[in-house]
Amino acid sequence: MTDVSRTHARRGVFMVLGFGLLLGSLRLAAQETRPPSPASFDPVVATNAYLATVAGEDRARSNAYFEGGYWLQLWDFLLGVLVNLVLLGTGLSGRMRNLAERLVRFRPIQTFLYWVQYLLLTTVVLLPMTIYEGFLREHRYGLANQTFGPWMGDQAKELAVGLILGGLAVSALYGVVRRLVRTWALWGAVAAMILMMLSVLIAPVYIAPLFNKYTRLVDPAVSSSILSLARAEGINARDVWVFDASRQTKRVSANVSGFATTMRISLNDNLLNRCSLAEIEAVMGHEMGHFVLNHVYKLLLFLAVVIAIGFALVKWGFERVTARKGAAWDIRGVGDTAGLPLALILLSTYFFVLTPVLNTYTRVVEAEADLFGINASGQPDGEALADLKLGEYRKLDPSPLEEVLFFDHPGGRNRILMAMKWKAEHLVEAEANARRAAEGDRQRGWSPESAQAWGREHEPARGK
Ligand SMILES: [Zn+2]
Repeated sequence: MTDVSRTHARRGVFMVLGFGLLLGSLRLAAQETRPPSPASFDPVVATNAYLATVAGEDRARSNAYFEGGYWLQLWDFLLGVLVNLVLLGTGLSGRMRNLAERLVRFRPIQTFLYWVQYLLLTTVVLLPMTIYEGFLREHRYGLANQTFGPWMGDQAKELAVGLILGGLAVSALYGVVRRLVRTWALWGAVAAMILMMLSVLIAPVYIAPLFNKYTRLVDPAVSSSILSLARAEGINARDVWVFDASRQTKRVSANVSGFATTMRISLNDNLLNRCSLAEIEAVMGHEMGHFVLNHVYKLLLFLAVVIAIGFALVKWGFERVTARKGAAWDIRGVGDTAGLPLALILLSTYFFVLTPVLNTYTRVVEAEADLFGINASGQPDGEALADLKLGEYRKLDPSPLEEVLFFDHPGGRNRILMAMKWKAEHLVEAEANARRAAEGDRQRGWSPESAQAWGREHEPARGK
């Protein structure tokens, strides 16, 4: 992490040491009454026992789903390059720019109109792949809850958002490129970061509600423990929301979204209904970790650097390619929107090559949130059980190399092992927390059977 946080951590260590010495004598008495940790609890054995509960067909399906995703990343990248090359090679990109220029005189609007044509055309061409990847495949692996009509409805909304927000972003970025011909890579990255900040800011308020219904967490049986957890971590109770993800998917999930005043934690209704309170507390503790550790801001800063380097490489590559191909592809220069497909080929190649680096950045951040969540919730077994449910769509026991290359979260084994290591040091506390959560489940009428019934209730109706 950053130097600043390391300095804070070091200062924190000294403070804790000081307090430790001060309170040492007081704590001694308390420790004597605490039962000694049984040496028989082995985190590795406990982890293996958890992983063994997902075996046979279930494990094979999860592995096949996730491993298929490795190849999809490659095909999506290659297909994108191919479509962009066709747009350039056939001169279609140049004709789309000419049309935009004939329709209006104002440059930013020309760019916007080019983007509208570009996005509509590529969306239609790539639609079969989108349907396979987002609809057919999700149903084949039993992850989707949505019939085709509503799914296409969501796709149309996504397209509308892409046309408007994408168009504004592309117009703004081309404005920077045209005005600052030498230094646009740097200022373009600054502009990109401002655009990302704005989109993250408005996303929870204006975009997410287009697809799902968001309500404040009020379910009294769950809210008391979640809001207590939030208060203990210095989070405003008004920042916890529930959304109806079961409209689209069976996946258990939660997230932190927004920026500054719109920042919030959201849990989905699958999590709320399919998981025990111990699992919910562990997952919400994880999300609170993202919130408290300012992961959104750190990620934006990291991306700003990544994009600045990416833009510099695009600038370099664009000049070299257009020196030879510019005339044939009817590209007048880097500020000409007809060159957008070339810029996107270069940029997507950069991001594709960088995949393991980006994954490693987020995987490290996710491990931090895991550790924060286990410490906040004190529910290591809840964490392990939730990790097994996440294993429905994420391979549970990958090889170390696989994890580095493809995993944007730690693999199931590492997440469970981290929780079991915590448990080994807090056996008494973990047991007491689990008992309290089980009591909460009785109060809200939750049981493994009610969880299964919820899953069946939200399966897509046959024949629609
Ligand atoms: Zn996370």
